[in-house]
Amino acid sequence: MDQILKLHKDDLDVVVQPAVGWETLNEDLALEGLFFPPDPGPGAMIGGMVGTGCSGTNAYRYGTMKDWVLSLTVVMADGTIVKTKQRPRKSSAGYDLTRTFIGSEGTLGLVTEATLKVTVKPQNTSVAICSFGSIREAANCVFKVVGEGVPIAAIEILDDVQMKCINDAGGTSRQWKEAPTLFFKFSGTASGVKENISIVQKLAKSAGSKSFEFAKSDDEAAELWSARKEALWSVMAKKRDDSDHVWTTDVAVPISSLPKIIEETKEDMRKSGLLGSIVGHVGDGNFHSIILYNDTEHDIAEGIVHRMVKRAIEMEGTATGEHGVGLVKRDYLNHELGEAAVDLMRKLKQAFDPLCLLNCDKIVRVQKPKAGEIQEW
Ligand SMILES: Cc1cc2nc3c(=O)[nH]c(=O)nc-3n(C[C@H](O)[C@H](O)[C@H](O)COP(=O)(O)OP(=O)(O)OC[C@H]3O[C@@H](n4cnc5c(N)ncnc54)[C@H](O)[C@@H]3O)c2cc1C
Repeated sequence: MDQILKLHKDDLDVVVQPAVGWETLNEDLALEGLFFPPDPGPGAMIGGMVGTGCSGTNAYRYGTMKDWVLSLTVVMADGTIVKTKQRPRKSSAGYDLTRTFIGSEGTLGLVTEATLKVTVKPQNTSVAICSFGSIREAANCVFKVVGEGVPIAAIEILDDVQMKCINDAGGTSRQWKEAPTLFFKFSGTASGVKENISIVQKLAKSAGSKSFEFAKSDDEAAELWSARKEALWSVMAKKRDDSDHVWTTDVAVPISSLPKIIEETKEDMRKSGLLGSIVGHVGDGNFHSIILYNDTEHDIAEGIVHRMVKRAIEMEGTATGEHGVGLVKRDYLNHELGEAAVDLMRKLKQAFDPLCLLNCDKIVRVQKPKAGEIQEW
């Protein structure tokens, strides 16, 4: 089911089947000067992107998958076919079934068709990177840029460990400063992009940046962004042997709490002796730590992740900003949302899929956990 069924160019929407990849979709849309912003991992497809309610580096400016789906056609567990809405940009017609399915990880129904909003492809894009002496200085720079209302397309942070992994992996055409680094993406008119780069350069300097580079051509922009793209693979390249695994986390917190949680997590990883890097969608308060561990080190890695999730929830954040719950994170929901909210989710699941045919027990345990079954903090 990998067909783009119909582009309504004047309405800025497109109807697709679930196995259309976001990259393929954008190649097609570009021919019409259009663009679909959610940009998760390479190879991700619309069905899975609806499933996780994904985001990506563009979320800071454009929002997440939840903001870009107009309507879904879904096959329910009993075979009923449901269309959640027609194609208007807005609607107050009843409960929002579209958003109930987004982020439901295949537990409520199977998406067979999606109508997606699209937007006009920015005329110009560029990239700048700047490095700092500490994560806190880099975070302060983000607050300044966000606080000034500079229209940035994306702001990402990579820590010193991550930058070293990228250098060691040698997958990019140059070497990078092994320091906390911010990656900015700009988009808009040529003069707007130029002006915004210059504002950010001044703000970065006042926040203590040690270096600032910006792209003067599309090739240079691709080169600067290449380090961001290599993040996960460069940590995987550090595997000591086949028994090593990578654990990727994705907590999110209100953005003012981001420096504290990143600093505490980095200290925890340092003390553990495991290799762990930080890559963050810093404009959204969402970051990944990528931790390398083998079977004998599993409990150490799990401890780091557990403490990180606990910190995030205590800061009024979430266990998962974009990857979803599945099995591993389901017992955190009681701590994050409270028992009453999880019970309501369980009732929703039972109403949509009473025989528990669809990804049973994912997100929410179908049977209410017995006393003591969910670990205390
Ligand atoms: C290098 C890398 C970078 C990444 N960066 C990001 C990022 O920046 N932001 C982000 O959000 N994610 C990111 N991801 C994670 C991943 O790309 C997203 O979670 C993406 O949404 C998964 O899409 P998929 O097609 O692989 O879905 P899958 O993993 O196949 O499925 C995801 C979920 O959707 C359900 N599902 C699949 N198809 C359907 C359907 N037709 N109907 C109903 N349910 C369905 C599945 O059951 C599953 O629960 C990254 C991954 C990698 C490897």
